[in-house]
Amino acid sequence: MPKQTYEIAVFPGDGIGPEVIDATLTVLQACQERYGLSLNYTTHDFSAELYRRTGKKITAADMDEIGEQADAVLFGAMGLPEVRGPEGLELGAQVEMRAHYGLLASLRPVRLFDGVEGPLKDENVDMLVIREISEGMFAGLADKHEPSDETATDRMTITRATCEKLFDVAFSQARARRKRGTPGRVTLLHKSNALRSNVLMEKVFDEVAAKNKDVDSQKFYIDVGSMYMVTDPQRYDVIVSENIFGDITSEIAAGLGGGLGIAPSADVSLTHGVFQPSHGSAPDIAGQGIANPIAMILSAAMMLEWLGEQHDDDRCTDVAQRIQAAVETVLANGPWAKDLGGDAGTQEVADAVTAALAGK
Ligand code: ATP
Repeated sequence: MPKQTYEIAVFPGDGIGPEVIDATLTVLQACQERYGLSLNYTTHDFSAELYRRTGKKITAADMDEIGEQADAVLFGAMGLPEVRGPEGLELGAQVEMRAHYGLLASLRPVRLFDGVEGPLKDENVDMLVIREISEGMFAGLADKHEPSDETATDRMTITRATCEKLFDVAFSQARARRKRGTPGRVTLLHKSNALRSNVLMEKVFDEVAAKNKDVDSQKFYIDVGSMYMVTDPQRYDVIVSENIFGDITSEIAAGLGGGLGIAPSADVSLTHGVFQPSHGSAPDIAGQGIANPIAMILSAAMMLEWLGEQHDDDRCTDVAQRIQAAVETVLANGPWAKDLGGDAGTQEVADAVTAALAGK
C-alpha cells in the first residue's frame, strides 16, 4: 500500500559520508517539491568519530526502534583510519544492521555511462553484482575468536536457506533487468574446487537454476571469472557470489564502470533496506568538498525504486527513474567531479543533477 509519507533513517557517518548525504538530500528535496513525494528524515549520529570520542555505538535497542519507525535507511559511510582492527570491526553499524535486519543481498549495479571513461576501451559494461552479506567469512566475526600472535582463523559458513533466498533474488533481478534489454543471465562465481562451503553453494545454485529455466545461468570459478570481468565483461549480466568474493568482484565491477564515486549499492532483505554508496569514508579527500555525490544519489534512487516495489507506489518508481535519467545527463555533459577528471565540487554536481531533473 502506498504511504503518504515515507520515514527515512539517515546515517551520515564519517569522512565524506556527511558531505555526500547533504548533497543527496538537496536532490531529494527538489524531488519532493516538484513531484509530490513526501519523505521525512530522522538523522542518527552514530559514527566511528562518535565512538572514538565517547565510546557510543549503535545497540540492538536502537536498531529495533529504527527498524520499526523507518521505511528505509540511507547510509553515508562509516569508518576512520584511527578506529581499525577489532574495535573498528565491532562498531561498524552497517555490519551490525546486516545481522540485525537479516539483510542478505547487497545489490551493486554497474553501468559504464556515456561520458565516463572506464579502464577498458570501447567495452559495454552493464552488470549487477549481488553479494551475499549475512554469511561467509564475515559472519565469523560474531564468533569473537581471539587471534594469537602466531595464528588467526576466519571461518566460512554458507547455509542452504540463505543460498536459496540469495539465488531467488538473483534470478528475479535478471528477469527484471531483461525488460530493458539485458540478456537475462545469472552467473555464479565460486570456488567449489577448493572450499566445502562453495560445494554446497554450487549445488543449491544448480537446483534454483533448474527452477528458473527462463533465465540463462552459468558458473565460473572465482579466479577465472574475475579475469573474464576485465577481459570480456559482456559475458556477464547478473553476477552472484558469496560474501568476500562478492566484496572483491563488486569493486572490480565498480572500477570497470568508472570508479567508486559513481557506484551505488542496496543491502536488502524482504522487509528492510539499507542504501549506501559502494565506497567507504574516503578519509584522503574528506572535508574538501570534492567527493563525487553520484554514488550516494544513485543509492537514494535505488531506495526509491525499492520503496516503490515494497509499497506498490508508482510515485517512488517514477522519481527513481527521474533521478537516474538526470544522473545520466550530468555524466554525459558534465559538470564532473575530480574523480572523473573534472573540477566540480560535491554540491555543484548535485545541483547539476537537480537542474537536469526538469529534463524528464
Ligand atoms: P573502506 O574500508 O570503508 O571501504 P577505503 O578507504 O578502503 O574505505 P574508500 O573510502 O572507498 O575505501 O576509498 C577508496 C578510494 O576511492 C580513495 O582514494 C577515495 O578517495 C576514493 N573515493 C571513494 N569514494 C569516492 C567519492 N565519492 N568521490 C571521489 N573519490 C572517492
